[in-house]
Amino acid sequence: GQKREVSGPAQQQLPGVKKIIAVASGKGGVGKSTFAVNLACAIDKLLSEQGRPRQVGLMDCDIYGPSVPLMMGISARPEVRDNMLTPLENFGIRVMSMGFLLDETTPVVWRGPMIMKTIQQFAANVDWGELDVLVVDLPPGTGDAQLSLVQTLPLDGAVIVTTPQSVAVSVTRRGAMMFGKVNVPLLGVAENMSYLQNPDGSKNFIFGQGGGEIAARDLETELLGQVPLDPAIGQGSDRGIPIVIGHPDSAAGESFTAMAKNL
Ligand code: ADP
Repeated sequence: GQKREVSGPAQQQLPGVKKIIAVASGKGGVGKSTFAVNLACAIDKLLSEQGRPRQVGLMDCDIYGPSVPLMMGISARPEVRDNMLTPLENFGIRVMSMGFLLDETTPVVWRGPMIMKTIQQFAANVDWGELDVLVVDLPPGTGDAQLSLVQTLPLDGAVIVTTPQSVAVSVTRRGAMMFGKVNVPLLGVAENMSYLQNPDGSKNFIFGQGGGEIAARDLETELLGQVPLDPAIGQGSDRGIPIVIGHPDSAAGESFTAMAKNL
C-alpha cells in the first residue's frame, strides 16, 4: 500500500517488496556502491542463516557510473517478459542496474528530466518478485535528479555513506537534508575508508578521524559503523566478488555484516 504522501513525481509502488533502503552519498568516490553491494550480500547472509535465502534485491540507479554489475560479477543483459525486466542474479541477490541497459557508447551527460524519466520507467518495470529487502544505490550527490528519485521510490529509510574527511561531512549534511524534505527517515551514517590497519594491529587514520561520528551527531542519527581501507575491497570489486562473500572474516567484511544486523 501507499507508505507516504509526498508532492512531486508520482511514487512507484513495488508490490511484493517489504522494505526499501536507499544508500546515498554527498559526493562520488566515497564507497557508496561498495557499501550498497556488501550491505545487500550481508543482509542475504543473515536471512539465509534464518532459512530465508534469496530475499534481497539490489537496484543500481547510479546512471553516471553504474559499478554494481562489475562488483557483483554480472555482465549479462536482462530478459524482458511482459514489458517487465527480469533481474539478474548472483550470490543469491537479485540485481538490476542501469549498467545492464547502457553500453559504453551511451552518453553519460544526459539532461536531468531525461534521466528522471528513464529512472522512473526503470523503477516501475522491474519484476522483483517477493523481497524482504531492496537496497537502492542512488546516484551520488544531492541535486534535483537525486531528489526526484528519492520522491519516486517508496523508501523506508536511507543510509548515508561518508569518509572521515571534514569536506565529506559537510556534503553529507546536504544529503541528509534531501531525505528530510521527503520525510524519509535516516537510518544512520556509515563511515568508509576510516583507517588503515597496521600489521601490529594499530590503526592509521590517514584521512583524519571523527568525520562519521560528527556527521551522525549533527544529523541526530547514529554512526552505524566504520569500514577500514582494505586493498581486498578494490580487488574483490574488480573480480566481481564482494568482500562480504570473498573475505567475510576481514575487518571490513565484519564491519559490513555488523551494520547489516543493525538495519
Ligand atoms: P562511490 O559509489 O561512492 O562512487 P565506490 O563504491 O565505487 O564509490 O568506490 C570507489 C573506489 O574505492 C572503488 O574502486 C572501490 O573499490 C574503492 N573502495 C571503496 N571502499 C574502499 C575501502 N574501504 N578500502 C579500499 N578501497 C575501497
